[in-house]
Amino acid sequence: MLIVQKFGGTSVGDTDRIKNVANRIKGYHERGVQVIVVVSAMGHTTDELIDQAAKLNPDPPRREMDMLLSTGEQISMALMAMALEAVGVPAISFTGAQIQILTDGHHSNARIRDVDTTRLKESLAQKKVCIVAGFQGIDEKQEIMTLGRGGSDTTAVALAVAMHADECEIYTDVDGVYTTDPNKVQGARKIPQISYEEMLELASMGAGVLHNRSVELASKFGVTVHVRSSFNHNPGTLVVPEERIMDMEKITVRGVSLKSDQARISALDIPDRPGLAAGVFGKMAESNVNVDMIVQSSGHGGKNTISFTVPSASVGTARGLLEGFIKEIGGGNITVEENIAIVSAVGVGMKSHSGVAATMFQALARENINIDMISTSEIKISVVVSNTQARQALAAVHAAFGLDGNA
Ligand code: ADP
Ligand code: ASP
Ligand code: MG
Repeated sequence: MLIVQKFGGTSVGDTDRIKNVANRIKGYHERGVQVIVVVSAMGHTTDELIDQAAKLNPDPPRREMDMLLSTGEQISMALMAMALEAVGVPAISFTGAQIQILTDGHHSNARIRDVDTTRLKESLAQKKVCIVAGFQGIDEKQEIMTLGRGGSDTTAVALAVAMHADECEIYTDVDGVYTTDPNKVQGARKIPQISYEEMLELASMGAGVLHNRSVELASKFGVTVHVRSSFNHNPGTLVVPEERIMDMEKITVRGVSLKSDQARISALDIPDRPGLAAGVFGKMAESNVNVDMIVQSSGHGGKNTISFTVPSASVGTARGLLEGFIKEIGGGNITVEENIAIVSAVGVGMKSHSGVAATMFQALARENINIDMISTSEIKISVVVSNTQARQALAAVHAAFGLDGNA
């Protein structure tokens, strides 16, 4: 039996916690289970490295940023290997480069293309526990790449796929995936099983418990992901194919998520002609600006308005690109609304239930929360609200769908 176990930042936050994890791994090793461990950087290391870089350069070269951030995981992997050796478990650590986690060339947001399993297989055959640095790989030019914030989850799933692991466990600081962030809404409840589709939407819309690309990968290759706590032995949440979940008919909304620190950019009174949206969003894509919700009003008088949301960190870039574009096409105005947030309700049950949108809007109306933008898909409804009312909106929507454990 082969298991991939990923331990997040809090789980390896200090040497006591690393010891605790090492003992946990020891239990598996002693039962003859082959273990590949993926580690994140300790505690808030990645944030601290980012802060240090910002003090030296407001716009650090992306290559050097990846060089810097990849060091966080290297500290934890070596410490974990030492902790395992200290409790009598043979272990060896590897960087992404050493096991050829091959990625594309997008610094700070690279995608994994391939993993060379040779060294892992050799070490497992020697009865060693393999520790792999999460969140990093190398491109074809041997440059170090990172996978995007939270990317260690994706390393774990990629290794589970490449090694045909029997299980992929993601150990974190909560008991599993909850109906919403349990650190934001008190009544949030643990979900025993969730479909890939729902988990992907929740992760993409702010549920940071799993990196969205890890879910994408798990879904593509049918890997069951078990999200659980490194602080206890409770069963966590299984992320599985939709057909394996039996209560599909009953539950309409599986979970609610919040994406804070977003901005809305609108291009007003731009000429209404074919290719305009393609032009705007083509430019955003070229510059790696992550656009989320897009709303275009129906044009009149030959003019149109397009609004979209981007993460606050990208608002400067997005605004600059849009200003350039408006000059090119000859007309229009830009408005920017910072400090907005997106609240989303997600559930595959929405496909067969009506009135879900109404329930969500009524819940917000009762709280006197204004909705700025709305977008829907088959299994998701998202609304833009002000950042200051975001938590209140999240709690209201969560309760309105009967997800609250306190209800
Ligand atoms: P790790 O360092 O272990 O990867 P993260 O901080 O990335 O941990 O993810 C765990 C956190 O995700 C939790 O502490 C919780 O605040 C947050 N979170 C957001 N949405 C959810 C959710 N629906 N269920 C559980 N946790 C969530
Ligand atoms: N250390 C990285 C981060 O903080 C990757 C991860 O923890 O998954 O984003
Ligand atoms: Mg994480």
